Amino acid sequence: MITLPDGSVKEAEKGVSLYDFAGSIGRGLRDASLAAVVDGEKCDLSDSLKRSCAVSFLTFDQEGGRDVFWHSSAHLLAQAVSNLYPGTKYTIGPSIDTGFYYDFDCPEVLSSEHLLKIEAEMARIVKENIPVTRKVISREEAVALFEEKGNEYKMEILKELPEGEVISIYSQGEFVDLCRGPHVISTGKLKAFKLTGLAGAYWRGDVNNKMLQRVYGVSFPEKRLLKEHFKRLEEAKKRDHRKIGKELDLFSFHEEGPGFPFWHPNGTVLYNNFMRYIREQNVRHGYEEIMTPVILNDDLWYKSGHRDNFKEHMYFTDIDEKSYAVKPMNCPGALLIYKTGFHSYRELPIRNAEMGLVHRHELSGVLHGLFRVRSFTQDDAHIFCAPEQLQEEVRRIIEYTVAVYRDFGYEDISVFIATRPGKSIGSDEVWETATSGLKDALTATTMEYRLKEGEGAFYGPKIEFNIEDCLGRNWQCGTIQVDFSMPERFGAIYHGSDGKEHTPVMIHRAVFGSLERFIGITIEHFAGKFPFWLAPVQAAVLSISEKIEAYASWVAEKLQASGFRVATMFSSESLGNKIRVARNKRVPYILIIGEQEQENRTVSFKTFNNDNGSGVAIDRFIEGLVSLRAERGTALLVDFQGVDRLVHG
Ligand code: ZN
Repeated sequence: MITLPDGSVKEAEKGVSLYDFAGSIGRGLRDASLAAVVDGEKCDLSDSLKRSCAVSFLTFDQEGGRDVFWHSSAHLLAQAVSNLYPGTKYTIGPSIDTGFYYDFDCPEVLSSEHLLKIEAEMARIVKENIPVTRKVISREEAVALFEEKGNEYKMEILKELPEGEVISIYSQGEFVDLCRGPHVISTGKLKAFKLTGLAGAYWRGDVNNKMLQRVYGVSFPEKRLLKEHFKRLEEAKKRDHRKIGKELDLFSFHEEGPGFPFWHPNGTVLYNNFMRYIREQNVRHGYEEIMTPVILNDDLWYKSGHRDNFKEHMYFTDIDEKSYAVKPMNCPGALLIYKTGFHSYRELPIRNAEMGLVHRHELSGVLHGLFRVRSFTQDDAHIFCAPEQLQEEVRRIIEYTVAVYRDFGYEDISVFIATRPGKSIGSDEVWETATSGLKDALTATTMEYRLKEGEGAFYGPKIEFNIEDCLGRNWQCGTIQVDFSMPERFGAIYHGSDGKEHTPVMIHRAVFGSLERFIGITIEHFAGKFPFWLAPVQAAVLSISEKIEAYASWVAEKLQASGFRVATMFSSESLGNKIRVARNKRVPYILIIGEQEQENRTVSFKTFNNDNGSGVAIDRFIEGLVSLRAERGTALLVDFQGVDRLVHG
């Protein structure tokens, strides 16, 4: 009896392979499946069913399936290189986020021309459709096998495998690799691939070891998907927020503060727009805002657990011969404020928001524009509630968070629960209560979620929100963390209805997460063409000639007086040039002012989506923009009443 993921039960004969079993459900499933999960264990499709169990199949759409596919592609690559360049020692070849690689100790110095040859050999092996088979062997057999091949790298890996570990090898034709698996059933599955790059890599990442040659690649089950992948990469390059940040003059980074963003006037407008938005939402959801200092003494950080669990990410300084730290999180400050008052159960929940500037040391190698910085502002909040309020509070935060993402045009949101990590504080029981609290709250909202084992914060489990951008990329943004430990460590209490003192639960939550990162994501999502209400410059006023300048200035000032952010372009440059500049700056409304507009007290405009309008009375135009701003929608064109001509481009 086989239980499927949807809960249904299917009968299967003992000894039938998972491949055939998938086929008995449907040919589509069989052909799309790359590996299977039997009672929680990943295995090959060639494995046979031995007992009643739960079975699910891994396809390329799932992370687990993609891993198998890319790891199998790494084997294919190693086979091709070994075939072409005898004497090659293959070392390790994992799947990574963006595809796969394999590190070779190869007698030939590889160049991009070699990659073409290797691809051709890979294609030949795929066409041959060689079965991929797994075999469990003894340690002695494994040692003998790789000794014979003269592969000291695999010998070293074998030596490090713990005693009693099952040792398996995978073969396809002549090629044999030491591997845990699982793998695709035959090389024919690996239909579309591309080798994407070459790099030097020390064996085991150690500079004292030999430099190996790393070949990168990516692969897909269909040619179409490979093509789409490269198109997406091309598009992502165009949307790179670091590039657009320069074009729109939003922010910069400097050696004087590596990883600390500097916000220029346009960027500051953008930043403040996000800030203003979230503050407004906070008020609507019953939050009060607080502000706490950036530098606090070490005693506090020992008490909070940060000194022991987070110190490698913290900056320290001395003041009056005492050690202080720059805050990496806002929580301890929020607790100190909570503790200044007497709290009755009737006041709870207390929701304190803080737009907190935090600093976290990241290795310089991982810094990446606004995506990975060393100082950033969290749209943080700490909610103190009674344990029986926990589920309802978490449910509210989930709904709040999802609504915010939708406002920015992110419709695809996925949710994870991250559980207890290795380095953590608090008892098993407390972790269990907190984790099930999060699960129950999600169940109450009917949102689906997946688990991330061991990825919680050191003080509690968390819910993570991922948003998908217009290129289908996923970004982790908001979190909700439940914490039973820190309030206790700080001696925070409330007076219950029983007249006794109790410890409140502390919920840490952020919706954007890091403002900097969320802005970076949003820049790429819109390719710099922000919704009207967000745009750093909302309208550019262009004059056709000097004679018109006075009227054009008057128009610009009138817009400014209504609170719009306006740039004027009155230079003697050609109109075409000025339009091009405004377009490059992604200004939503480009106003073109000539004699006719002056005479009739009107404006004519082009939008960055190539919509045009002409002869709109200035008051009508402003009214239209006011409603557009208030809507905060992602659409641009409004129906200006009384417009002579309105053309959708
Ligand atoms: Zn916190």
